[in-house]
Amino acid sequence: MECPSCALEAPDDAETCPYCNYEFPRQKRSVMAMAIVMALLLAWPVFKLIELLTG
Ligand SMILES: [Zn+2]
Repeated sequence: MECPSCALEAPDDAETCPYCNYEFPRQKRSVMAMAIVMALLLAWPVFKLIELLTG
């Protein structure tokens, strides 16, 4: 991932940037999980509609 502080490439699992010691926010994973859940909830009516249209 790219460090927002120094714009250098840091390891994805790093807690802090090895170059500038920037502390990465830890909420990225839960935000991703929330986004996936939201996407599934939004997609569900679409799947139901396709099911209705295709029989
Ligand atoms: Zn950095």
